[in-house]
Amino acid sequence: MATPLPPYQVVLPHRCTLGEGPLWDARTGTLYWVDILESQLHSYRPASAQHQTRNLGSLVGAVALTQTRALLAALQNGVVLLDPDTGVQAPLAHPEARLSGNRYNDGQVGPGGRFWVGSMALDEAPGAGALYRIDPDGTAHTMVEGVGISNGLAWSPDHGTLYYIDSPERAVFAFDYDMQTGALSRRRVAFRIPEKEGVPDGMCIDTEGMLWIAHWDGWQVARWNPHTGEKLLGVPLPAARITSCCFGGAHLDDLYITSARIGLDPAAGEAQPEAGALFVLPGCGFSGREPFRFGGPFIPEKP
Ligand code: ZN
Repeated sequence: MATPLPPYQVVLPHRCTLGEGPLWDARTGTLYWVDILESQLHSYRPASAQHQTRNLGSLVGAVALTQTRALLAALQNGVVLLDPDTGVQAPLAHPEARLSGNRYNDGQVGPGGRFWVGSMALDEAPGAGALYRIDPDGTAHTMVEGVGISNGLAWSPDHGTLYYIDSPERAVFAFDYDMQTGALSRRRVAFRIPEKEGVPDGMCIDTEGMLWIAHWDGWQVARWNPHTGEKLLGVPLPAARITSCCFGGAHLDDLYITSARIGLDPAAGEAQPEAGALFVLPGCGFSGREPFRFGGPFIPEKP
């Protein structure tokens, strides 16, 4: 029988408006996440309980790791390299420079060291978003068009499949992924999320190739089998709007979870004092991998 999951913990008193994009940096023992609508980058070092906040001056959809201590940040005014300590930014790419009604949303570096970032219309107009691939030389490629709200991205442990969430579709799509060229092919629906579970938002993948999906308006993170569409586990949380999750900690078995307060009416806001919190399931019994880093040589891993 499976070991029961540990109870969740609220990591900090801070509450985000729209917390998103948790990212574990194993080199520094730092968890990063963003508050998209407050243009804020947050960092937290569990070893010292040190929490820092930095305003990036533009709506920030996601951050990612590079080979150096610089981060990538997907700002509304472009994807930049960012020094997390000084806040200094250097432009890298801006495929939506002409789309002022859009902003970037969820993003991840994939196997091969390219940055994958999606977008959405600020007014959530259907099909106005896209998924881009930004290569280490800064060239941007449009990989998926007609996206509603571009969200979770995760690669299978063998790196041959990209899983991708377009939230309004309530679907997890799968593509064959060519790590050498960065090409996608054979798009299909891996599975759809039943309405009662909430809307799929961000996600991560564990070492067994199972997806951990944050369910917006679903009060949970859930573990799904992408091969069968079976819901394997649900983790109930005290906030309706769960946005994303990642594995972190020394053993990559602490599941960090972000959430949001945006759009809750006053009564709901009062009823959910933990909405917007960063949660953790410490030592959850499952583990992930370290995030890929932008631009570096790819180092194959043992399965
Ligand atoms: Zn999201």
